[in-house]
Amino acid sequence: MSDLISALEEIVGPGQLFTGEAIDDRYRADIMGRIHDRPLCVARPRSTAEVAALLRIAGEHGVPVTTQGGRTGAVDGSFAAEGGIVLSLERMNAIEEIDPVSMTITVGAGLPLQAVQEAAEEAGLFLPLDIGARGSATVGGVISTNAGGLRTIRWGLTRDMVLGLEAVLADAGYDWKHLMIGSEGTLGVVTRATLRLRPKPRSVMTALIAARDFDKVVTLLRDFEADLGGQLTSFEVMWRDFFVLVTEANRAKRAPPMTAEHDFYVLVEAMGGDAGSDMERFEATLGRAFDRGDAIDAVIAQSEQERANIWAVREDMAGPMMRLVPLFAFDVSVALRDMPRVAEEISRSVCDAHPGATMLVYGHAGDGNLHFVIGIGDGSREAEHKIDLIVYRAVERAGGSISAEHGIGLAKRDFLGFTRSAGEIALMRTLKRALDPGNILNPGKVIDMAGGALA
Ligand SMILES: Cc1cc2nc3c(=O)[nH]c(=O)nc-3n(C[C@H](O)[C@H](O)[C@H](O)COP(=O)(O)OP(=O)(O)OC[C@H]3O[C@@H](n4cnc5c(N)ncnc54)[C@H](O)[C@@H]3O)c2cc1C
Repeated sequence: MSDLISALEEIVGPGQLFTGEAIDDRYRADIMGRIHDRPLCVARPRSTAEVAALLRIAGEHGVPVTTQGGRTGAVDGSFAAEGGIVLSLERMNAIEEIDPVSMTITVGAGLPLQAVQEAAEEAGLFLPLDIGARGSATVGGVISTNAGGLRTIRWGLTRDMVLGLEAVLADAGYDWKHLMIGSEGTLGVVTRATLRLRPKPRSVMTALIAARDFDKVVTLLRDFEADLGGQLTSFEVMWRDFFVLVTEANRAKRAPPMTAEHDFYVLVEAMGGDAGSDMERFEATLGRAFDRGDAIDAVIAQSEQERANIWAVREDMAGPMMRLVPLFAFDVSVALRDMPRVAEEISRSVCDAHPGATMLVYGHAGDGNLHFVIGIGDGSREAEHKIDLIVYRAVERAGGSISAEHGIGLAKRDFLGFTRSAGEIALMRTLKRALDPGNILNPGKVIDMAGGALA
């Protein structure tokens, strides 16, 4: 092992390889604050050539490699098992080129998403991709999980914004763009990407709208999509319990933008090219929604501060959620029409199994995505497995997917069979074997190569 460590250290240079106690806890801490196994070492390469050399040496020694971006992933995908190498791309964070004519930006894979957004903004452009973890999640991370987020309804997933990427495979070859996107570090290491930018929108209209039932929510979605002629960028639905928890817990920080008496809340945002006429059209759409009874209460942001207050209802939830610990979080996809029924079914089963349990429901419903946060007061592995089965069986019955946007990682691996056929899983194993014959790239994540029984 000391041969391996010396060889790796030679590649990354002094002070860029950590072992044992010198490994900072942040390389092992996930978003829930859990500390994972201590890896053999953490290496911080600075260039694609260094990544290629590291993978070659790891392959020769048969030692697994897990690539880490900002560690904001929600499915335990970016942590190495004991004895594995963590490849942290945090030093590969250069903005290499921004081309205002072609509207592209080329960056190192370790650059945080927010830094790309800010660079685009400074150039008078706009990166539509946006997620709550923007400050820490990296370009390599969002590509590897094919992240969705808050504006997917208009501009699509990360896949739709990646024009080119450079990746190093286990045998140090290059390319394979679309196969890399969403492969969660199991097929290669993304080292650089060119992303498509858009012209910066000239108008932003944001509203929080209350609706009596989910059918009205669906009508609101259809009307805003149709009436705004493609300007709708976000449609975030929050069930009442979510709204109550977040606004009450944050009351000392800011007054809630609306009372908590309604069953459904929708954050609607649109972006366009003409501040005056866009706002008129947005208000007229909302006015018609009131006339028909689809909206029963609403606030439209009149300033950037009011917009931030509305978004805080959806986004400032990490602290409030901690009140439910131990909790289990899910990110699933079901057809829009099935959402209330599936949520109700899961809530009933969870409460039968754990009387007094709390379940919060919210998500990017406009693109079929729902998040459940379930607090049951028992954080044991057995309790987690029971809740996993309740949720994934309900999703399977509805013909949905066990992962809408967070990926499979380790947390959902054993449930992959709930949404992928045996044939599809066999094909994934074939691809993995072809691209990573030594099984050194993030082994054990997404699929179990040994073909173990699924839950
Ligand atoms: C508050 C909050 C809000 C979120 N909102 C959303 C959301 O709206 N939509 C959404 O899709 N996700 C969301 N997420 C989940 C998470 O932010 C995304 O999955 C993000 O894409 C992960 O980026 P990261 O850099 O933190 O990657 P990490 O967590 O470090 O890694 C994630 C996976 O990608 C692999 N990986 C990382 N970098 C590379 C690379 N360069 N090459 C190859 N593999 C790599 C890792 O091995 C791991 O399997 C949210 C998370 C939080 C905490």
